[in-house]
Amino acid sequence: MFGSLWRRWQDSREAAAVRRRAIPDDLWKRTLVRFPFLRWRSADDQLELRRLTSLFLDRKEFSAAGDLHLSNAIVVSIAAQAVLPVLKLGLARYDGFVGIVVHPDQVVARRNVQGDDGLVHEYDETLAGEAVQGGPVMLSWRDVREAGRPGALGYNVVVHEFAHVLDLADGLSDGVPLLPARLSRAAWLGVLEPQFDAFVKRVEADEETALDPYGASGIDEFFAVASESFFVDPHGLAAEHDALYALLERFYSQDPRAFAPAIR
Ligand SMILES: [Zn+2]
Repeated sequence: MFGSLWRRWQDSREAAAVRRRAIPDDLWKRTLVRFPFLRWRSADDQLELRRLTSLFLDRKEFSAAGDLHLSNAIVVSIAAQAVLPVLKLGLARYDGFVGIVVHPDQVVARRNVQGDDGLVHEYDETLAGEAVQGGPVMLSWRDVREAGRPGALGYNVVVHEFAHVLDLADGLSDGVPLLPARLSRAAWLGVLEPQFDAFVKRVEADEETALDPYGASGIDEFFAVASESFFVDPHGLAAEHDALYALLERFYSQDPRAFAPAIR
């Protein structure tokens, strides 16, 4: 059968790529120590994460900006976190871009917007990361590195930007990634929109939230921020947004709560 031949050819190509980009044991162990939400995972998940990390390194092109020197620790830290959202969806979800630009620290971007008065206003935006249609994905190494710290509970710049990559797959940054057949756009928005509206009200009322208040700035940011929390603080997300947690569980085909320690 042509299909099974093609499958076998693809499997052997992948196996060769994994050998080519094999991650040394000590570096992989250090990566797991650095990022607890990877360390929690089952032995099976960790094996698959390690395999996908090698494939990711094989398919993507990293470059450094400023005075940053790219090391194996940096590229493996980024790749291992980036593949977490596609653990069950497959790496092909990231085929729409190749480049990843790593900056030593946050980047100030000059923005222009036309205001209600018709005039163009300039302002500076400080970015820890950015994903645009077709790539490249930009990340601040300082923010990537700090994602494993106890104070960073619920925050994760790599998951955030790669959730945007999933959202952008259809060309629109609208909080709706490419959905599986069993999950309709209407069903997706039927959960996401009311959760987003309620979240905006809570943020406007200055309430404490498990999710980063930045998620109130747009439904695309809400999806990215909820995805961060889903993977790194799943109990926190589920406690405040159980319907949203269940939705993300269906989309990502994962239940990170099953692995995360219950005590926050
Ligand atoms: Zn964002």
